Amino acid sequence: MALNEDNYKELRAGVDPTFIHHAEHVKEVKDIRMTGLENENRVMKFDAPSCTTPGLVYHDRIEFLDYDKFANDFSMNKQARARAIIGGEIRVHCACKSFLYWGYKYIDTTIDAAIEKEGRAPDIRNPQRRGTLCKHLDGILRVLPFYAAEYSRFMPDKGSGGPQVVRKGGLG
Ligand SMILES: [Zn+2]
Repeated sequence: MALNEDNYKELRAGVDPTFIHHAEHVKEVKDIRMTGLENENRVMKFDAPSCTTPGLVYHDRIEFLDYDKFANDFSMNKQARARAIIGGEIRVHCACKSFLYWGYKYIDTTIDAAIEKEGRAPDIRNPQRRGTLCKHLDGILRVLPFYAAEYSRFMPDKGSGGPQVVRKGGLG
């Protein structure tokens, strides 16, 4: 991965817009919602509604690998820390079938960008290993930088010795 480039942009740059009509399908992804944080604020959780089955929602996760590098860097304000973490190295996961079926999970595993590892190469369905993201993850990474302000509320205070827990009006 190139330096000085936000990692989520690198992953999105790996998307192949013509493979299984990805570019058309990603437009169908609507109503992405951040639902909370886990692993002491190192993982951001999203819900992405299925485009074909009403009521079905896929759970997605974005893991921020540079959390420990920036979260307690008090030379930056909270917003700058949140932006640095979001722009740092990430791993992704989507619970939809496409993520596994078309080989994205495997491809992401080979570039250390998969939260859950997949060792079975998509030799039949995607022999050229095109793409990096299902449409849900692509949609989420498009909006990910806009969550920096909200995420900044969870940056640690100096001397707090741990992750910030926002209770009132926090993420459910
Ligand atoms: Zn998906």
